[in-house]
Amino acid sequence: MTLQEILSKKGSNVHSIGPDATLEDVVQTLVRHNVGSLIVCEHSGGDSPGRMVGIISERDILRAVAGHRGPLTTQKVEDTMTCNVVTAPPSASVEDVMGLLTERRIRHLPVVDDGRLVGMISIGDVVKAQHDELSMENHYLRSYIQG
Ligand code: AMP
Repeated sequence: MTLQEILSKKGSNVHSIGPDATLEDVVQTLVRHNVGSLIVCEHSGGDSPGRMVGIISERDILRAVAGHRGPLTTQKVEDTMTCNVVTAPPSASVEDVMGLLTERRIRHLPVVDDGRLVGMISIGDVVKAQHDELSMENHYLRSYIQG
């Protein structure tokens, strides 16, 4: 199974935030959308987000709180985000992505096609896809064995 197949069921919606936003804005946005990370995009002036410049996840918020750097309302996304974003193409397989997420110790992967952000895959999506595939295989094997 590929990331494209997962995105065709899940959709291509990606939640983003600007580099000037505060960590309090991040918390509110994560909770509102029930997600664990946001893509940081330069806002190009219009409604649509601009170029991807980073990623920020709930782990970064935890680190900021543990670091006692002051209230979340005074800390900027651009000072906390990860700038070197690991991405994958839509053609990547679930197996490859499981390896990548494990090796890099990350749980979120923006999907980029020809320089364009086309979706976001979380470790939960990958586990679900793998589980669905194994359940299906199990079902067919049982039917085969039981005749
Ligand atoms: P996570 O496990 O995804 O919540 O994130 C753990 C750490 O890795 C945080 O510091 C994130 O900013 C960072 N991170 C998450 N996803 C990515 C990614 N795709 N590329 C680079 N860094 C990431």
